[in-house]
Amino acid sequence: MTDRNQELFDRAKQFIPGGVNSPVRAFRAVGGTPRFVQRAQGAYFWDANGQRYIDYIGSWGPMILGHGHPAVLEAVQQAARDGFSFGAPTEREVELAEEIIRLVPSIEMVRLVSSGTEAGMSAIRLARGATGRKKIIKFEGCYHGHADALLVKAGSGLATFGNPTSAGVPPEVVQHTLVLEYNNLQQLEAAFAEHGADIACLMIEPIAGNMNFVRASVPFIRRCRELCSQHGALLAFDEVMTGFRVALGGAQSLYAQAIPGFEPDITVLGKVIGGGMPLAAFGAKRAVMEQLAPLGAVYQAGTLSGNPVATACGLATLREIQKPGFFEALSQRTQSLIQGLTQAAQEAGVALCGDSQGGMFGFFLMEELPQNYASVMRTDAQRFNRFFHGMLARGIYFAPALYEAGFVSAAHSEDDIAATVAAAREVLAELRR
Ligand code: PLP
Repeated sequence: MTDRNQELFDRAKQFIPGGVNSPVRAFRAVGGTPRFVQRAQGAYFWDANGQRYIDYIGSWGPMILGHGHPAVLEAVQQAARDGFSFGAPTEREVELAEEIIRLVPSIEMVRLVSSGTEAGMSAIRLARGATGRKKIIKFEGCYHGHADALLVKAGSGLATFGNPTSAGVPPEVVQHTLVLEYNNLQQLEAAFAEHGADIACLMIEPIAGNMNFVRASVPFIRRCRELCSQHGALLAFDEVMTGFRVALGGAQSLYAQAIPGFEPDITVLGKVIGGGMPLAAFGAKRAVMEQLAPLGAVYQAGTLSGNPVATACGLATLREIQKPGFFEALSQRTQSLIQGLTQAAQEAGVALCGDSQGGMFGFFLMEELPQNYASVMRTDAQRFNRFFHGMLARGIYFAPALYEAGFVSAAHSEDDIAATVAAAREVLAELRR
């Protein structure tokens, strides 16, 4: 049988760098041929050979309702009939802004953009503009999109300014980006002690989904909040992945349960708010947001910002996830996946641990949950790749890299979870050999 995925990949590689429009799709980390998706429905997608997969990526997070949810599809079709893009304001943008603000109380005003990268980049410009300061803090293993100032890894030694992780980013561009170890209180204290008066913002993924799945500890977030407040820096929560995914109010609502009165200053959103369409946002208190053009001196703009089809898709998605019991059911399903995988691994005598929150999860082929990037990277990549390909061959599509989180949607059934765990049992038994 001809492999249509391979044919398409070969064709794509002639005209698209690496054959893909975003690097992780190329399967470089795990090897093999990427699956070219033909169509998707509910919890599944079908590749170019017509092979069905249970999809645990869901477009890297947005598809919380599964693919082709009827209410969302209807909203998108209706919006498309009314026009694709106007470059002028629409009522739906106001509705979406109101909805976001209602669901995320730390946000008083919001600006819509088209990608998480754009939202994160704009949030940093806003923080710098609002504070009149240059320096930012980020954490190793957190990804906030590919804006130049954020493509940076830790230098050698403690609490150093970073080195670019991409060619084309001059060192001068990241010279104001301080890169710290995630969950490392000592480094956090040291950074503020030394640079506190110059720090515009600290940006963090509160539950990091770009080093698989790693939670920031409650004491760590509490200290981030205290130090930012003491030193006049803004605390920016990048909830592009966690927003409307780990809980209706995002990760910040979970930390607020443990830290009374907790709020970040700036929130960056994406993925679920677009329901699979290009839509993202950043929001903050009124006084900060009013620094943005056209009111203030911080410039920010976009031809397709607040796109009418994307906002319709996002609004319809947000309405569905507010239905009673939605997050309880999603969390339960996701937990049963992780429990099933853990149990299957125990039976097979393979080290595996995992964690989840809402519809987001991670698992590691190791004994204990890691706390930072360096410990995530101690995973045996060869073993992960064997696990990934074993599952793929059985029609289960996990992220093709060990440092990515996974996602369960409301369309995943108990049967889908059971089929996944049954496949894992076979693959883990092979892994043990
Ligand atoms: N921030 C986080 C936490 C993300 O996970 C991502 C993308 O995966 C981004 C920002 C960038 O978003 P986008 O890919 O829409 O530019």
